Amino acid sequence: RIVYVNGAFVPEEDAKISVFDRGFLFADGVYEVSTVLDGRLIDNPGHMARLERSLNELGMGSPVPVAEIPALMEELVARNGVAEGMVYLQVTRGAADRDFAFPKDATPSLVMFTQARSVADTAAARDGIKVISAPDMRWARRDIKTVQLLAPSMMKQKAKDAGADDAWMVEDGFVTEGTSNNAYIVTKAGSIVTRQLSTAILHGITRAAVLKLAREAQLKVEERPFTIAEAQDAAEAFYTSASSFVTPVVEIDGAKVGEGRPGPVAKRLRELYIEAARAEAG
Ligand code: PMP
Repeated sequence: RIVYVNGAFVPEEDAKISVFDRGFLFADGVYEVSTVLDGRLIDNPGHMARLERSLNELGMGSPVPVAEIPALMEELVARNGVAEGMVYLQVTRGAADRDFAFPKDATPSLVMFTQARSVADTAAARDGIKVISAPDMRWARRDIKTVQLLAPSMMKQKAKDAGADDAWMVEDGFVTEGTSNNAYIVTKAGSIVTRQLSTAILHGITRAAVLKLAREAQLKVEERPFTIAEAQDAAEAFYTSASSFVTPVVEIDGAKVGEGRPGPVAKRLRELYIEAARAEAG
């Protein structure tokens, strides 16, 4: 596999980053994951806009103007012959002698790699997945997409150990989001409910696209918090992310949601999203 590191496309075994890189020492870095479908990046302008915002929030530069990154991503996709999968990109503040304050003279690093895997047709989309609830122990600026992913990583492992697939994190009694996705329910009255944007959650690019499609399809959308009890009692539940599109959630803390099968709203939104992505990329 070819990866991109600071201006060069190299075999992964030749890629090098300093042990003094602040991404490694302080999780002082931000990232994006964009999906490749039919060999094309989907929803990528949204990911680039969020990257720019994350960088600005942390007072961090990019070694390459963000506007030039999509061409590099496309080149990496082409070099690795990825038809379906992901491009991961990470910008860190760069290498400097270890000190908490931001260094004045560090040059930021940009690394990118691809992952080839099925995204359009997956077992999770067909059968739905199970989640557990867990306290949200992440930091207070979840709107910034930083690489400090230990808390969600621990929650994901807790879910796996419990025989589930993911965790929905709860703060002050309400669901914030999944470990790497935004969380939704469909009420028995047919409303799609997902938490409103704030610093408590990541502003999902797929979330924005799916809510737009839902509204265009005349579905009712409510942006407000919901509890685990409301989700367990809902008609449907699902989550969204770049790499999973729209994925049905059929069980929460051992309780079946609805019939315990993927519901019609989640299925329809998934189809609408894939159709729109293919049309946009095509
Ligand atoms: N929330 C969190 C915490 C995430 O890590 C992700 C995935 N990056 C999402 C939501 C979904 O965001 P997106 O649709 O942009 O992938």
